[in-house]
Amino acid sequence: MERRDLFKGALAAGLLSAPQLSAQTAPTTEVVIERAVSGRPHTGKVLALVTPHLDDGPFFAGGTVTKLLGEGYTGVFIRTSNDEKDSYDLTLGETVLANERDAQSFLQVSGLKQMFDLGYRNHRMDDLAHTEIRARLIFLFRLLRVDTVFSYDPWGHYEENPDHYTTAQAVEAACWMAGGHLDMPEHFAAGLKPHSVSEKYYFARGPQLVNRVVDIGPTFETKLACLRACRTMVTHMIKDLNASLVERKLQLPALSAADRDAINEYTKMALETSDRATGRRFGLDYAEAFHYIGPDRSMDEYIARHAVPL
Ligand SMILES: [Zn+2]
Repeated sequence: MERRDLFKGALAAGLLSAPQLSAQTAPTTEVVIERAVSGRPHTGKVLALVTPHLDDGPFFAGGTVTKLLGEGYTGVFIRTSNDEKDSYDLTLGETVLANERDAQSFLQVSGLKQMFDLGYRNHRMDDLAHTEIRARLIFLFRLLRVDTVFSYDPWGHYEENPDHYTTAQAVEAACWMAGGHLDMPEHFAAGLKPHSVSEKYYFARGPQLVNRVVDIGPTFETKLACLRACRTMVTHMIKDLNASLVERKLQLPALSAADRDAINEYTKMALETSDRATGRRFGLDYAEAFHYIGPDRSMDEYIARHAVPL
């Protein structure tokens, strides 16, 4: 059953009635197209890209993050895993270092100003205490006063990678709990204040409930550069592909050297295939798709009618 149908069924059965879901979290299937805006309307706001792996953000949200940074946001990157498993022929230790260096390149290309490495072991995050990851994220969300997060959809379907869904679930809970005055009150003695995250852009590798499509035509080239900065990981993809082709007695001449030209060719092919296909469905050249959850506006009308100045 598709998620959309599941919700329709649940609604019909009265399982998702208003008292259980606020306007903020009630799922919506209406798709909003987000386009570039002029000026820097987001000045003063902070976004955090929170992913286990270096290449997750560049693949699924690089165009939108670039767009929002250009419109005034300040951005940080929180990487939850150490990416120790993602290279083709390096040792585990060499892989950690290579991806760490690539992450610095990604930071420079993307315009994100700072990175926090939580350093959990790659492909083993489902073995962790979720409360620990959540606590570290709550601290960072309060410290950085994060308004908007980008992360994997905790309700995306058919996700194979435990790092993805473990991180996603921790992010979703931390966004909410960071606003609680009884959650980790020791933070307040250190000068922090409760601060919940009010906007979420969730992406997924498999099916998800999409309600926000972002036009990334103007930022597509920067997105490409962000993915190309993930040199070790992209080289891994290219060499895996080449090895599978050898088994079929084939080769792709443009990728056979696995050098900078091959990285350029592979990333262009990969992103043009995915982002052009998403864009075509919505009349755009290139697009990224998300499940977006915005600020809770359920009280706005009442406040507008009844609030008075202090
Ligand atoms: Zn990943």
